[in-house]
Amino acid sequence: MDGRQKVVVVGAGPVGSLAALYAASRGDDVEIYELRGDLRDPSTTPLNFTRSINLALSERGINAMRHAGQPKLIEHVMAATIPMRGRMIHGMRPNGELYEASQDYDVHGRTIFAIDRGGLNKRLLDILEEMPNVKFFFNHKLTGADFQRNKAWFVVAEKEALAAGQQPREIEIDFDLMIGADGAHSSVRYHMMKYTRMDYQQEYIDTLWCEFQILSKNDAPDSRSRLKSKFKISPNHLHIWPGRDFMFIAIPSEDGSFTCTLFAPAAVFRQLEADREGVQLAPFFDEHFPGVTSLIPPPELIASFHQNPHLPLINVKCKPHHCSSSVVIVGDAAHAMVPFYGQGMNAGLEDVRILFGILDKHAAIDSSMATEAGVPVATTRAAQREQALAEYTAVRVPDAHAINDLALHNYIEMRASVLSPVYRLRKFLEESLSVYVPRLGWQTKYSRVSFGNERYSEVVAKSEHQGRVLVRGLIGAVGLPLISGGLFLYFRYRRAVEVSLRELLQGLAGFLNGR
Ligand code: FAD
Repeated sequence: MDGRQKVVVVGAGPVGSLAALYAASRGDDVEIYELRGDLRDPSTTPLNFTRSINLALSERGINAMRHAGQPKLIEHVMAATIPMRGRMIHGMRPNGELYEASQDYDVHGRTIFAIDRGGLNKRLLDILEEMPNVKFFFNHKLTGADFQRNKAWFVVAEKEALAAGQQPREIEIDFDLMIGADGAHSSVRYHMMKYTRMDYQQEYIDTLWCEFQILSKNDAPDSRSRLKSKFKISPNHLHIWPGRDFMFIAIPSEDGSFTCTLFAPAAVFRQLEADREGVQLAPFFDEHFPGVTSLIPPPELIASFHQNPHLPLINVKCKPHHCSSSVVIVGDAAHAMVPFYGQGMNAGLEDVRILFGILDKHAAIDSSMATEAGVPVATTRAAQREQALAEYTAVRVPDAHAINDLALHNYIEMRASVLSPVYRLRKFLEESLSVYVPRLGWQTKYSRVSFGNERYSEVVAKSEHQGRVLVRGLIGAVGLPLISGGLFLYFRYRRAVEVSLRELLQGLAGFLNGR
């Protein structure tokens, strides 16, 4: 067998960093190439990347970090999270009264966690830095790759050289395995397409997003003394102001503030952007997101709307996720999704756990075991990797597609279904069955996605099955008494019913014939 592998990770976001950690923990020589500067260095990080962006971390992401072979990692990460036990729906009653309604995510009390994405990323980079077999290359942009000869090219944007007016230089590197974790607009994916017959689908939804902030009580300009709670609204909820076409959400931060996001159609953004003075913005919020202007004063609302970027949401599906033994894509590079299930990063971190589980399995099959197991004997690491990557694509693509679709569908749920009685009835029935008849193994789709590690494609299949059983049960529960009641009335008052029916049919025939 070959010796140590050289693994090149492109992209030092949360998914690339975790992939590097998994590879380094297995003794591989790991090089991480990142387009931007080191995010821990404030002097090289552009201002818009220093802002705290909060995400919902859930079981799949946590589980992937749990298996990274670094016990301290999960301890540190979880210490900087805030549990969110449910959605807090905000609205206004017809009489103008504001209300808040809590909807727990899980009948068993499990929570998801608010986490600062930058903080998580920094923690991963810190751990990697301590590993002797890991090298960082910041300000390196992948510009080309040859997946037959396993070579790649990067443009190096060195600050000093650029300041001195020099052209950025290009370097050539080689590798055994490249892991592309370079986000939704992945260069690795782009170059992979030249070497494999990749099916590719990308879609921008007609929604833009923009960030706002609810300041901590202690940061508020009118705060005079230390306040009991630094949070202006419940810290243990993901707050939602649903609207038919819009949505505003708020996720808590450790410092008492909330990172908020406005989601709205592009045309609405255009209309609000045209109003440079921001005269329309506060009335727009008062109409669609009642109560927000008392949490974010209108001048701050207007400043954030005009200063922060208005960004699109992309949905990317592709297949395969690998090419030969040379390259595999993970995270947003493989399956960028809209953020409405809070699963983009979680799914990306889970990719890493599944990928390395499969690589380990194939690496453990030596020739004799392979013969016993009836699988073709892989004589080199490259051949093993090729089998492993093919298996990874076969396993992961259906799951990536499933969570992409769920995320798209959840936008409707977050904006509108959370208010619908049918949605709430189904949630109530499924949760009641989960508590009172646990042997049936019923769970809501949300619980399966956010609190478990079942394959996303299985979650979809099980949820559809539960839906069908519920509909049949409801038809039985409501339909049977109706049918029996009808039959009873018919036999009891047969003559009267027949006369009435005849008259009704005659009347109907007359109506249809224009009489
Ligand atoms: P990225 O974070 O995009 O990192 C890619 C890295 O690659 C970057 O550092 C980039 O600089 C680098 N790079 C790019 N091109 C090159 C190149 N040519 N050469 C070298 N380096 C390169 N997910 C959740 O799980 N929960 C949530 O609650 C959640 N909320 C979200 C809310 C919003 C509004 C949005 C937009 C997304 C949300 N997500 C959420 C999704 C989550 O942010 C992403 O899924 C996650 O950041 C993807 O991580 P990544 O490491 O794959 O990619």
